[in-house]
Amino acid sequence: MKVVCHDRYREVYSSDPASAPGRIESILEELHGRFEFVEPKPASEEDVLLVHNKSHIDSVKAYPLIYEIALLAAGGSIRTAEIAMQSEPVFGLIRPPGHHASRGSSWGFCYFNNVAVAVEKLRQESNIKRAIIVDVDLHYGDGTANIFASSSNVAYFHPDGPNRQVYLDELSSFLSAKHETFDILAVSAGFDRHEQDWGGMLKTEDYYDIGRIVKEFAENSCEGKRFAVLEGGYNHSVLGKNVKALLDGMT
Ligand SMILES: [Zn+2]
Repeated sequence: MKVVCHDRYREVYSSDPASAPGRIESILEELHGRFEFVEPKPASEEDVLLVHNKSHIDSVKAYPLIYEIALLAAGGSIRTAEIAMQSEPVFGLIRPPGHHASRGSSWGFCYFNNVAVAVEKLRQESNIKRAIIVDVDLHYGDGTANIFASSSNVAYFHPDGPNRQVYLDELSSFLSAKHETFDILAVSAGFDRHEQDWGGMLKTEDYYDIGRIVKEFAENSCEGKRFAVLEGGYNHSVLGKNVKALLDGMT
């Protein structure tokens, strides 16, 4: 399994918790030596225009450091999705996150919708049609849902069960009710629902189960094509272990 990461994701580009110093390092510590690392290139403005309008891009551009890192995050997500197209599971260890970025606005530490840019680029350039996006972040990915609201070829799901078992059951039920095939499965991988993070619920082993559930679905319905990219997750003392658990499940 490959991990897409860039040194510049360590840069503190803002004062929000997604940009906190040491966050990427806490994950790298856990993954180092266990995965093959791939360095991405920044997305182009044309790539970002696939899902955002020009005025939103210009509003991010007003903050040059954020703009640079946000383009690099979108590029990281694109690279991650391209590797997944070779039926190899892959994780985009990127920041800033993206799932609260809609076509013309963003909030919640997000600027460009990394997963949406990658899925739309594949749909435009890699001859794929149908994608399924599972968002396991604590927060609903309103940006991703908005961007694909009118597209019947991109499914978005955010489980929200009140406890661990119901949560995992919701995810399994949603996927097993999908009888059609998809070209690729993407995971918006937030870890802020962990018991020691903001959501106070999931255990580390649950991320392994999530990985296993999406892997099984991808093998049955997407020719194995699956990828995940980092969204939220703010407790550096457990974040790396949770990422590792998800990746072990997805492998
Ligand atoms: Zn979140």
